[in-house]
Amino acid sequence: MSETRECPACAMPTDAEAPECEVCGYEFPESKAGVTAMTWLFIGLMVLFAVPLLAWLAGWFG
Ligand SMILES: [Zn+2]
Repeated sequence: MSETRECPACAMPTDAEAPECEVCGYEFPESKAGVTAMTWLFIGLMVLFAVPLLAWLAGWFG
């Protein structure tokens, strides 16, 4: 007995243990931790660019 999960691409219920959607072929992320790590990496990069930009803006307008 296996559970099902909703495919984010086509919104159809698919086998929760399947590596990809049986309907549209969407590949599920291997783990939520991987998605979270990528999210934090993206946020980190945004901060790296945003902090100097904000510092420059503060110096320009301040
Ligand atoms: Zn799908």
